[in-house]
Amino acid sequence: MQIIGHKNQLALLKGFLEKGLFFSSFLFWGPEKTGKKQIALGFAKGLLCQNNVFNGCQDCLACKDNPNRDFLFVSESFLPSSIIKSNDDKPYGIDTSRAVIKFLSLGASLSKRKVVLIDNAHLLSEEAQNSLLKIIEEPPAKSVIILVSDKPSLIFETVLSRTLGIYFPLVKQEDILHWVSDHKNLTEKQALEISKFSFGRPGIGFNLMADGKQLELYREKVLELLSFERQSAGQKLILLKRFLATDPEISKDLEFWQAILRDELLFSLGLGDLSLILSKKRELNQKDLVLSLKKLSNLSEMAENFPATAESALKQMVLSENL
Ligand SMILES: [Zn+2]
Repeated sequence: MQIIGHKNQLALLKGFLEKGLFFSSFLFWGPEKTGKKQIALGFAKGLLCQNNVFNGCQDCLACKDNPNRDFLFVSESFLPSSIIKSNDDKPYGIDTSRAVIKFLSLGASLSKRKVVLIDNAHLLSEEAQNSLLKIIEEPPAKSVIILVSDKPSLIFETVLSRTLGIYFPLVKQEDILHWVSDHKNLTEKQALEISKFSFGRPGIGFNLMADGKQLELYREKVLELLSFERQSAGQKLILLKRFLATDPEISKDLEFWQAILRDELLFSLGLGDLSLILSKKRELNQKDLVLSLKKLSNLSEMAENFPATAESALKQMVLSENL
């Protein structure tokens, strides 16, 4: 498992493992695709390992127990469909929290403790969160719950206040470039492009490296989008629809759209060197500048407060311009 960036957070977690300092609930939070889940999995393996080694020592009985019976990983793709049942629009319903509570009620077998990792914890329904709150307030001995989320504002304050929050910000471009440059099959130019197009998210860089066509497609789409701001609302919607249909993986990422708007601003302020993706000079007048700033803050706000897809957020943005 390769972890890119987050040196301080890793040092903190490894320190917890080495010194045996354990909190019963953690919240790993921050933007999508920054490596939170990977690090949470490494930490979980460390908590389960009899030798307390981050990511597991691979030698002890607990590490050799595969899949580890003292570990419950709650994620949309790994949960049996019988557990992902919910009465509302959130996939983790009351059955999920019941499964967690039942799992933690029994003692550990080979490990020193039982560990539950809930990926995308904001997908827990209200009922599920309420039910889980009881076990977070009074955790069984030798148990640890790790919540992972990029939208913690959708998790109850009562739950959040009882967890130790660890923030995972966007990873520096230079850290991503360093990682990407180690892959010998890439040219220098490709490595630089991947590091820029990742927007601080190694998860995106990983996808771009895995499939060369993705990088090409991405470059083409970015060039096409350079004209985005100058289009009419109708044309913008057509462009959006086409982009989202051809490349859902990247285009659903709000950070991508924010980067385009941010670059417009940087260029117009004569700070093009700092831009993330745009490579040619853009002209904006003062009115456009104010509009771009407003859009940036609107997008950030939408991304922060709603589990909206980029598609709906951008449509709202384009349509609101015409009001
Ligand atoms: Zn071990």
